[in-house]
Amino acid sequence: MRAEISVAALRHNLAVLQAQAGERRIMAVLKANAYGHGMLQMAQALAEAPAIAVARVDEGIQLRRHGIAQPILVLGGFHEAAQLAQMAEWGLQTTLHCHEQLALLEQTAPSHPVSLWLKIDTGMNRLGIRGEDLPDVLARLASCSSVTQPVRLMTHFGRADELACEATAEQITRFHALTRHLPGEKALANSAGLLGWADALGDWVRPGLALYGISPFAGESGCDRGLRPVMTLKSRLMAVRDCPAGAPVGYGAHWHAPDATRLGVVATGYGDGYPRLAPMGTPLLVNGREVPIVGRVSMDMLTVDLGPAATDRVGDEVVLWGEGLPVERVAEHIGTIPYELVTRLTGRVELQMR
Ligand SMILES: *Cc1c(COP(=O)(O)O)cnc(C)c1O
Repeated sequence: MRAEISVAALRHNLAVLQAQAGERRIMAVLKANAYGHGMLQMAQALAEAPAIAVARVDEGIQLRRHGIAQPILVLGGFHEAAQLAQMAEWGLQTTLHCHEQLALLEQTAPSHPVSLWLKIDTGMNRLGIRGEDLPDVLARLASCSSVTQPVRLMTHFGRADELACEATAEQITRFHALTRHLPGEKALANSAGLLGWADALGDWVRPGLALYGISPFAGESGCDRGLRPVMTLKSRLMAVRDCPAGAPVGYGAHWHAPDATRLGVVATGYGDGYPRLAPMGTPLLVNGREVPIVGRVSMDMLTVDLGPAATDRVGDEVVLWGEGLPVERVAEHIGTIPYELVTRLTGRVELQMR
């Protein structure tokens, strides 16, 4: 069981996104172990990305310890004084998204300069300073001697993957209205913002998913945008067996073979992070051919219907997603999003860089 990670595909995707971004600079989002792809290796492969973003302080420190020298933004910011000191010490940029963080910053007066992105809530109502509070917050930040001026400004979209929805256009308008007169650099767009909303203009863009070759939009895959899948999740057939018509298969006899067929048992299960809730019919590739899951996914294995005429053998290669089978399609079958599939792989899956 391994996830093959194509560094060439990652670099190709960075170039495609840079072309899309034009003058805007790319902040490559590497949170959650680079969406399951291996944070450190991805950071090393992205030496040309002008900046990197992670979610947690620890992730940023880990990158610095391994010599990653680009600007690194910690998207979640700090929530205690010790973290603020660590960020200053390791030269990590922070997001400031709430009043509690502002109060902490005022009380702590860190010894090193603090480089921050002020996050503005333009309609997602998750994180961010509200528009009406902005003048006060900016004034208080201006009197924090440790804060580098001018502060940078960011917002985040809640529905940018829905191209027919007005909400993103409204968020863009609100952000520009609030920040037009402010001198700091600006950043709005995630992958969907960059690929779908040409007027999500700013100085920086923050793609995550698309870097890994995955489309954020329903009903398409990254290759429709010229992107290449970075992760290909591979396993093997650990058993091949004949199954008579009517036989129950797997835990709970969840499925009965309607006709005699050959079954393949794949050495992958929910213990590897493959969702137990994957329904019958979810596709896999066996020797390059699409076959459906039948019966329940178990901890260490799952079963596929190879078809009565199958000649596949024990040890043959299985692709769960990636090259030849977009993870977007698998996610759609399972009723989740590709983000979740790639980030939930367990430590049992070896990441193999190539
Ligand atoms: C995760 C994240 C991104 C990247 O989002 P994608 O949809 O993966 O491109 C960008 N900005 C913020 C604030 C995020 O949390």
